[in-house]
Amino acid sequence: MVDIRSVHKSFGQLDVLKGIDLQVRTGQVTVVLGPSGSGKSTLLRTINHLEKVDRGAIHVDGTLIGYRRSGDRLRELPEREVLKQRTRIGFVFQNFHLFPHLTVLENIVEAPVSVQKRPRQEAEELARRLLERVGLADKADAYPRRLSGGQQQRVAIARALALEPRLLLFDEPTSALDPELVGEVLDVIKDLARQGTTMIVVTHEIGFAREVADTVVFMDDGRIVEQGPPGEVLDRPRHERTRAFLSKVL
Ligand code: ADP
Ligand code: MG
Repeated sequence: MVDIRSVHKSFGQLDVLKGIDLQVRTGQVTVVLGPSGSGKSTLLRTINHLEKVDRGAIHVDGTLIGYRRSGDRLRELPEREVLKQRTRIGFVFQNFHLFPHLTVLENIVEAPVSVQKRPRQEAEELARRLLERVGLADKADAYPRRLSGGQQQRVAIARALALEPRLLLFDEPTSALDPELVGEVLDVIKDLARQGTTMIVVTHEIGFAREVADTVVFMDDGRIVEQGPPGEVLDRPRHERTRAFLSKVL
């Protein structure tokens, strides 16, 4: 589903991704761990072309992201095409990013109607089913500010699902939450995992990684230091940097 090859990314003089290779199979959950500043968010953002790569290529479900081949050169796609690619990749942010002036239902219906041109009634029916799925059927008409952080994040997940993405990306989805609200969001993500949703989740929740991940990836300083099943990377890390990181977060 995801094929990342030799991806490099710099911001000015700062090399943030230094040759990333990562493959994710359909239906699998990949958890990305690593210290702050190691390039985790940048990696997620390159996958839906919120950041352009400097070198390398990313395919999602066989589609080259952000570029098209012309002869042996790559040309950047026009923004309109990039937006179309993006609609099939859901992104859930640390700080929810809900539209404050729209109700919960309107937040979810917005993109299916305006981007995918789905009939409003159909989009609303889907939105209500999704709200049910994340346990918020009774909040359809509430405004985001009236919800707890955990509820807002569950709405954000429903909103991402409304585009029927092939792939879901989560960037520290529980980091902004009070501890007692973390579980309800992780439960929703676990439920998606059980249903075979392909996901890449950046998180520091090691217990979640152990329970849900098919693959755990440890990043440090712009590189993937090691990756493998949680039982290996979390319990028998081979690299000193992984051990040092885990000893801090566990
Ligand atoms: P992580 O998510 O692992 O904490 P990030 O991918 O956010 O790491 O950031 C990696 C490095 O890239 C950091 O040093 C950060 O300051 C830098 N960085 C991220 N985005 C930008 C940007 N838009 N412009 C300049 N530097 C950036
Ligand atoms: Mg980050």
